[in-house]
Amino acid sequence: MIRITEIRLPLDHAPDALREAARQRLAVDAATLGEVRVFRRGHDARSKRAVVLIYTVDCTLVAATPEAAQAAEQALLQARAADPQIRPTPDTRYRFIGHAPADFAAGGRPRPIVIGFGPCGLFAALILAQMGLRPIVLERGRAVRQRTQDTWGLWRKSVLDPVSNVQFGEGGAGTFSDGKLYSQISDPRHLTRKVLTEFVKAGAPDEILYVSKPHIGTFRLVSMIEKMRADIEALGGEIRFEQQVTDLLVEPVRDAAPDGPTQRVAGVVLASGEQLATSHVVLALGHSARDTFAMLHARGVAMQAKPFAIGVRIEHPQGLIDRARHGASAGHPLLGAADYKLVHHAGNGRAVYSFCMCPGGTVVAATSEVGRVVTNGMSQYSRNERNANAGLVVNISPEDYRSDPGAATPVHPLDGIAFQRHWESRAFELGEGGYFAPGQLVGDFLKRQRSSVLGEVLPSYKPGVRLTDFAQDGREALPPYVLQAMREALPAFGRQIAGFDRADAVMTGVETRTSSPLRIPRGARLQSVNTIGLYPAGEGAGYAGGIMSAGVDGIEVAEALAADLLGLAEVP
Ligand code: FAD
Repeated sequence: MIRITEIRLPLDHAPDALREAARQRLAVDAATLGEVRVFRRGHDARSKRAVVLIYTVDCTLVAATPEAAQAAEQALLQARAADPQIRPTPDTRYRFIGHAPADFAAGGRPRPIVIGFGPCGLFAALILAQMGLRPIVLERGRAVRQRTQDTWGLWRKSVLDPVSNVQFGEGGAGTFSDGKLYSQISDPRHLTRKVLTEFVKAGAPDEILYVSKPHIGTFRLVSMIEKMRADIEALGGEIRFEQQVTDLLVEPVRDAAPDGPTQRVAGVVLASGEQLATSHVVLALGHSARDTFAMLHARGVAMQAKPFAIGVRIEHPQGLIDRARHGASAGHPLLGAADYKLVHHAGNGRAVYSFCMCPGGTVVAATSEVGRVVTNGMSQYSRNERNANAGLVVNISPEDYRSDPGAATPVHPLDGIAFQRHWESRAFELGEGGYFAPGQLVGDFLKRQRSSVLGEVLPSYKPGVRLTDFAQDGREALPPYVLQAMREALPAFGRQIAGFDRADAVMTGVETRTSSPLRIPRGARLQSVNTIGLYPAGEGAGYAGGIMSAGVDGIEVAEALAADLLGLAEVP
């Protein structure tokens, strides 16, 4: 097939205009052009008066025989070799690195264990199951239907279930989300395609395969995850809920090399006391498994403090964002609810940026710990709620949260968790209990005064928002350098999106779980640098940020683990 990129057409182009544009670019006659399949559709809204659609399409040529058609495609590609926008269509099919032999299970080997059933654990387990390696998945939370009820308990009745909530349970942290499925990871093996293809097989709309910024929304994700669970089970995998891993069994490595691993995995212990022997464990914990990180640290698993970001959620009317981004085309069905991505480098050296923007969505209570408040955002597939929301966050380095200021030693890997907890507890206090979150209007925040009445923008966070002053002396909602950087960024963002700094835009705090506060470093063949058989993966280990990158990391880790189990020399 022949891939053509950068076909630009007006937003309301006629249905056959794309085919005609492809024909003209290839300079073939109408009868010679066969299939024209859309690979990607994006848009360019820089000119608000004339938003254009940008297509990448894959085409075939027609000839008397399939061989002649292929030869014609080759000839055309050769003739147009100097045109960077006409190329052979890459082969994006997923290829397994191997399969377990039929008698693999009978060999008496312990089965690989995957801890956590978020996007990373889900794709790790799916690939292992598809290779015939029958993984056991241990998930501390509940199955997704029950989990949905548990999560509503917090949003509707102010009752948090620490076992089953926005962070913990089947589907992981991304289940109650906007379901954005794009990522900026480099992807030479087209693994993002494997993720999208599996999602479509599980019931996601086909369009996620070709729109440039695909999203699924919460309700669809729920049934898709159930379908993927059934696929893993049908392939011999096992998925156990309410099975929190509370300990890791390790054995010392005899004659360890000076800089090499010092211990190897021997099994895991569950909260019930049950022990499972295994030599291979995928750690797909997510960024909120604070007790598990502490356990792993106590067991000597190497880990390091890492940077992350904290701030608030900010809400505006979605119409304001649509008009700023799409001008007269705002509301066009092909454009959908508009998004934004903003960055400001503040005078105090901090970067302020928008994070996990949710068009037409709601701000959600996302804590997993009693007596703490955490915000995040979600939406449905339709993205038709009245407000746009995004994290407005500021970067934090390990030196900001070190517990022994001035020491020359590396920052303790668990210090970032203590820092997050401090600000989440403060938010709970400022919300005055019941998991209400502290809120402030942008106008008041900029004038350094307490908010007392809402304007037109009504905050969507449930159970509710308590208006306050984020900067009150001694009871600040966030570190002063974060507040200062946000105060500088808001008017700058207002110059990029008119009305972004409008006085009645609402900020709700605090957003602390933007990424993991630590990294569990990997060495050879994606195993922990000091623990053989342990595969740190996904967001919690510091190797992903978002559903797509977590899914891709799950695939790569499953491949590395399978290569080890199957005795393959090469890992892709
Ligand atoms: P997680 O999804 O966090 O999964 C980890 C799992 O491990 C959890 O289910 C947890 O219960 C389990 N676990 C932890 N410890 C143990 C243990 N000891 N024993 C057993 N099980 C354990 N990303 C996007 O790309 N697009 C979005 O639109 C988006 N929106 C989001 C909205 C919200 C409200 C939230 C909270 C996150 C959102 N994200 C979004 C981020 C995305 O969800 C995460 O990046 C992604 O889920 C990380 O995947 P993961 O598998 O690494 O970890």
